[in-house]
Amino acid sequence: MTRHENREVLRGLLGPEGFELSCEECFEHLDRYVELELAGANADEAIPGMRAHLAGCPACHEDHASLRSFVRSDASEPR
Ligand SMILES: [Zn+2]
Repeated sequence: MTRHENREVLRGLLGPEGFELSCEECFEHLDRYVELELAGANADEAIPGMRAHLAGCPACHEDHASLRSFVRSDASEPR
């Protein structure tokens, strides 16, 4: 690994803007992210990179949207 590449990796890890999760990580944290969101917590701070990934990945964006509406309707519907 060259010094230049090394710096790129570091910036990816440390930069709040440039950091983005992979689809796998996104999927792993999606449940918790939605829970935090619906609880009114700062989900973006709890799981950094999530929002950036959702904004840039249509597949995960859709997963997020459907999980959100699923959790919400599940919580509001009495059984
Ligand atoms: Zn994705």
